[in-house]
Formats: sequence, C-alpha cells, structure tokens
Amino acid sequence: MTATPALVLEGVSKSYGAVPAACDVDLVVPSGELVTLIGPSGCGKSTALRLIAGLERPDRGEIRIAGQTVADGRTFVPPERRRVGLVFQDHALFPHLSVRRNVEFGLHGQPRADRAARVTQVLDLVRLGHLADRYPHELSGGEQQRVALARALAPRPAVVLLDEPFSSLDENLRAQVRAELVGVLRETGTTAVFVTHDQTEALSIGDRVVVMTSGRIEQADTPSRVFEQPATRFVASFMGDADFLRAHVHRALLTCEIGVVSTVPGWADAETDVDVVLRPHEVALTAEPDRSDDGPAVVAVEYHGAFVLHTVRLGSGQTVRSWQPHSVRHPVGTPVRVSVVPGVTPTLLVGDTAVSSPPPRG
Ligand code: ADP
Ligand code: MG
Repeated sequence: MTATPALVLEGVSKSYGAVPAACDVDLVVPSGELVTLIGPSGCGKSTALRLIAGLERPDRGEIRIAGQTVADGRTFVPPERRRVGLVFQDHALFPHLSVRRNVEFGLHGQPRADRAARVTQVLDLVRLGHLADRYPHELSGGEQQRVALARALAPRPAVVLLDEPFSSLDENLRAQVRAELVGVLRETGTTAVFVTHDQTEALSIGDRVVVMTSGRIEQADTPSRVFEQPATRFVASFMGDADFLRAHVHRALLTCEIGVVSTVPGWADAETDVDVVLRPHEVALTAEPDRSDDGPAVVAVEYHGAFVLHTVRLGSGQTVRSWQPHSVRHPVGTPVRVSVVPGVTPTLLVGDTAVSSPPPRG
C-alpha cells in the first residue's frame, strides 16, 4: 500500500474568458515534498495555487488534499475547510494585531488554551518567540515573512502554498530568509508548493521542479533532470541559458557547425537532423590568434566576477556562449576554436521536443 499523497490535481483546467490559465494540469505531490513551480509571468502559477486553495473553482478536473476531494464537478470545499496554509508575497499581516494575535488568527474555532500553546510552539519554530508582542511594523521584512509562515503552519495544514514569498525582499535579505523558511519547512516535514520566477531558487530549494508555460506543465522532474535533461525546447531555454545549433546524426556521431559534438549510442542506424542544446558551461574555447579566416570569433565579453561570459559568432552567423574562468578574457575579435567540453551528453531536440532515441524513419 502506498501513502496517500498530500495533493493531487487531475485534469484541472481553468480559463478566464479566452485565456487558458490552467490547461489539463496533472500533478501528484507526496507528503513531505517541497515542489517549486516556475514559469514566465502570466503562465498560471498563481492560478494553480488559487485553485488548490479554493480561491477559484476549476472549470474541469479534480483536486484532492490529503485524500479528500475538495473540488470536482460536484464538490467545492471552501478555502477555510481545505487544510491549506497560504504565504503570499505581501505578507498580509494585520497591522493592528501583535505577532501572537496574527498567528492565533488562523486558529479561531479552537479552545483558547490549545490556541495559546500552539502559537507559542510555532513562534518558537520560526524563532520569533521573543518578538511575540511586537506589531508588524516593528519587524524587518524577513521577520514579517516568518510570522506569515508561522500563521500558515499553525493549523497544521496538509499543504502550504507559497506565492513568490521573497519578491519584496532585497537580494541579500532574500538568501537569508529563504534559508530560514526552507529550513522550517524541512524541519517540520511540511508539504509545500512554492512559486518562484527565479530559476536558481527553483533548482536549489525544490525536491521537484514543475515548469509551466501558458497554463500547461511542460516538465515536472528533479532539479538536475530539469536542467540537464530538459523535456522541451521551452524548458531548455527557460531554465538557464541555452544556445541551439542545427546538427546531424550519422552513424551515431552528432555533428554540427563546430564539428563532432558527441556520440549518440543507440543511434547507429539513424540519419537525422536535430537541434543540439548547448549551455555556456558546456562550451570550450581555444584562442587561435593567428587564424585570419571568417571562422568563429569572439563578439562580446561580459565579466560576471567569478566567470566571464564569452559570446562567439560562428561562420554561419549564429552565436554560442561560453563561460570561462575569471582569469580568462579573450578580447572581442579573437578568432577561437569552439568545442564541447569532453564528457557532455547534450540534449537533442526534434522540433520542440527532446528525444533520447532516434525518431522513426519517415
Ligand atoms: P502567474 O502567477 O504565472 O504570473 P496568473 O496565474 O496570475 O499567472 O495568471 C495567468 C493568466 O490568467 C494571465 O493571463 C492572467 O492575466 C489571467 N488571470 C489571472 N487571474 C485573472 C482574473 N481574476 N481575471 C481574468 N484573468 C485573470
Ligand atoms: Mg503570480
């Protein structure tokens, strides 16, 4: 017997007029998992959370929380009876209530003594016990977010939904508050769906990353698979930098403008055009200062501190990017030889879809 997942979406769709904000979304989140949900602005991330929370009704499909159907064709359980906790970007604390009273707010309906004990417990959990009598305006942005998390956790929800909770924090504070919040979610084994538009954040904190575009899930996978084995052209370009080169597979050898890229085991009989996905850390450069043809040459150099991003224009006019260590700077105009870092197995696309086996001969 397998454990009941904390959250299940099956064929969930929701349109606003002609805009499909959720299209046939399927997602299963096991208990204790931290899922990050990422995609371009307007792709439907907040709509997905609002559907789970009960702030919107799906047009079609079913949503189950801890085994209970909360929305389908016949059922609609209101938000306050759904066992979800919410943390939004603007922490929406009540300004006229103390920290303690803000957290207690989520527990109305429970006996007073139980409430007080639970508030103390969750405030300790987010390490704010000593600030229980302060008011929101007497707290830093990070502390306010921890109060919001404590309030969401207080009623012991089956799943916590966080919608870009760090967007209003500046870069330095963000890293610290992120570590604190994720630490609390981990410590408590909380199941969470965490919306972010930051690729690094999605990859670094998620057990699983769900990539959306236009209301659809393009890929739901571990962080390393989303980055290293993107399922589609969209995922490859959205999750990190990528350049796409026309390439050809002949007798299990993948060749493109820069030469042989890699072997493709199992493609011995294939004769196929593909696109190869190259990430800047997979592209190696060797300066060839004495060469004077119109082959590959550096056209831009961007210093990023630890690394230097080189953009190279190939003979065809197409560009590829390459990360070089901070000590390497090939000046603009330098002729270079471009190759793929040994050991890399790049993603191949046919059309917009990644392929791992040769397409059938047509
Ligand atoms: P995200 O959070 O990924 O930026 P949203 O879920 O907020 O995206 O929005 C998805 C799409 O649905 C967008 O095109 C948005 O304009 C539209 N949308 C969201 N909420 C409403 C609403 N209440 N009424 C009409 N359109 C909406
Ligand atoms: Mg949003």
